[in-house]
Amino acid sequence: MLRFTPLAITLALAATAGVLSLPALAAEPGRVGQTIIRNGEQAAIKGSDTIFTGTVRIDPLYSANNDMRSSGGSVTFEPGARSNWHIHPVGQVLIVTSGVGRTQEWGKPMQEIKAGDIIICPVGIKHWHGASPTTSMTHISICEEKEPGKVVEWMEPVTDAQYNGQ
Ligand code: MN
Repeated sequence: MLRFTPLAITLALAATAGVLSLPALAAEPGRVGQTIIRNGEQAAIKGSDTIFTGTVRIDPLYSANNDMRSSGGSVTFEPGARSNWHIHPVGQVLIVTSGVGRTQEWGKPMQEIKAGDIIICPVGIKHWHGASPTTSMTHISICEEKEPGKVVEWMEPVTDAQYNGQ
């Protein structure tokens, strides 16, 4: 006689929903395997002064490709450095990995951000991000592409008054 414990029922429902079926994707012919990008393979890029104020370094992490639409980079802002105002057509996630920084949405107060904070920038919201005046800040930025290569729409620089929350 079958005994229906809560766990057995949960497993049965999961199997019905296909949650427990694990297709062997890696074994299918023509599929590409994992890519491991080794540390040191990708050169750092100096942030352009047409889209940043101050000294900014971008360490590329990974690019989008035909199957995956997100791309990532680690961006380091020296004290006082910040991005121009901008929007992301498919949004952005920022993961602050070190230091202290600042971010602001258009029309809202500037906010301090610190290592460990995660900032979700929704689609089409005008904003900026950067370091604090005295401490550098590094964040990982993850964006999805709306069309190939299009993850951001750059706008005007952040003034000193805006940066200082005035
Ligand atoms: Mn952004």
